Amino acid sequence: MAHPKRKTSKTRRDKRRTHYKAEMPALGVCSNCGSAVKLHTVCGECGYYRGKLAVEKEVTA
Ligand SMILES: [Zn+2]
Repeated sequence: MAHPKRKTSKTRRDKRRTHYKAEMPALGVCSNCGSAVKLHTVCGECGYYRGKLAVEKEVTA
């Protein structure tokens, strides 16, 4: 198998990793309640997805 000739130094390894970072999820606006929601995801506020009720909101009282 192909094999690296030299060990990657800590500096080189860490410099490579400077490009690793968490990406912000794509955000949209719920068409039912107007709150910010992750795209392709049921709204956490009202439980609607693409204009229809997908998940009934639990009523905690
Ligand atoms: Zn909503």
